[in-house]
Amino acid sequence: MKIAFKGGTPARDIFIPYGKQYIDEHDIEAVTKVLKSPYLTTGPKVEEFEKKLCGITGAKYAIALSSGTSALHAACHAAGIQQGDEVITTPMTFAASANCILYCGGTPVFADIDAGTWNIKPEEIEKNVTSKTKAVIAVDFTGQAVQLDEIRDICKRYNLILIEDAAHAIGTKYNGIPVGNISDLTTFSFHPVKTITCGEGGAVLTNNEEYYKKIMLFRSHAITREIDEISQHPFNGYNEQIGLGYNYRMTDMQAALGISQLDKLWIFSNRRSEIVKKYNEAFSEIPQLTIQQEIQESDTTRHLYIIRIKSSLLKVNRNEIYKALNAENIGLQVHYIPVYYHPYYQSLGYNKGICPIAEKLYEEIITIPLYFSLTDDDVQDVIKGIKKVINYYKC
Ligand SMILES: *Cc1c(COP(=O)(O)O)cnc(C)c1O
Repeated sequence: MKIAFKGGTPARDIFIPYGKQYIDEHDIEAVTKVLKSPYLTTGPKVEEFEKKLCGITGAKYAIALSSGTSALHAACHAAGIQQGDEVITTPMTFAASANCILYCGGTPVFADIDAGTWNIKPEEIEKNVTSKTKAVIAVDFTGQAVQLDEIRDICKRYNLILIEDAAHAIGTKYNGIPVGNISDLTTFSFHPVKTITCGEGGAVLTNNEEYYKKIMLFRSHAITREIDEISQHPFNGYNEQIGLGYNYRMTDMQAALGISQLDKLWIFSNRRSEIVKKYNEAFSEIPQLTIQQEIQESDTTRHLYIIRIKSSLLKVNRNEIYKALNAENIGLQVHYIPVYYHPYYQSLGYNKGICPIAEKLYEEIITIPLYFSLTDDDVQDVIKGIKKVINYYKC
């Protein structure tokens, strides 16, 4: 028997993870069918998945890729980011949102977040624009859309390309328009903790044909058989490499899973919203906690739920609260350590202190369980555990 943080029984007898995938018989059948078909890698299922992504978002083009990270790399490539270019992004994200800039030889510039919504702050983007700025990578943190009107306006004024890292935000709408159909390039991730999964996988969405063509080449070694792109046609199937690309292809097995998962997107989305509502109600009554401020324009499919502790009203810091909640059998994470805190970014010369609001937030946040199959009882257990720990440590 596990012992709770101060002895006795934990709020929860069986450990609740902070996130997990939901796989049903349809998913299993869809993948099994592909295994019995002639195509295992990029074939008809990838195309069908891409069409479905276009259908859900209204975007003209979708390119499925091997991961959310390769999708970000492809988006930066399409945007033409290269050595000497600066790209503005948020520190409050997974490192991939900045690493993709480095892959292309560009320089990540970190702009601070809004203290309430925790998304990148439009004014901070504008403050960081220089003559070298080429693009902005805005991250829809926890699934809530960034302030797209304001950010698009800044991008227009300074002639910047807007890449939206919507790894958290499939299913989210901004002023009624689906994420994926707003920015110049939008990327999704289908990692198992995200709202829908392919095992691993990602996609870029765009309405720009030139970007689409560039990414289709980039995905597969920049090798083409397109008649207007190659120099000669000696035989059927002849192909040429016309640029430098990668193997960032998605398999048909992953795509079949993605299609079957997308069929459940709105069921997933609604359940996630129900859980968020229950958490919001419970935590708004606890003076020692702050919850994420909502952006009115965003009709959000929530990926993560984060509580923020008010350090001044508690006897211990976040790390102690985290340990105590863990002892209550509640699975947790911290999203995120500011990207430039990572030793690798420190070695590139980024100093601590550049984004004070994000840094302060990092000290006080804990991600708690949120996933489709979390039951109402699970939710009550999580709330119970949090109340117990906060009550014990409050000033
Ligand atoms: C998960 C995630 C990624 C990377 O996606 P992968 O599919 O794991 O490569 C990028 N950005 C953000 C914000 C993410 O949460």
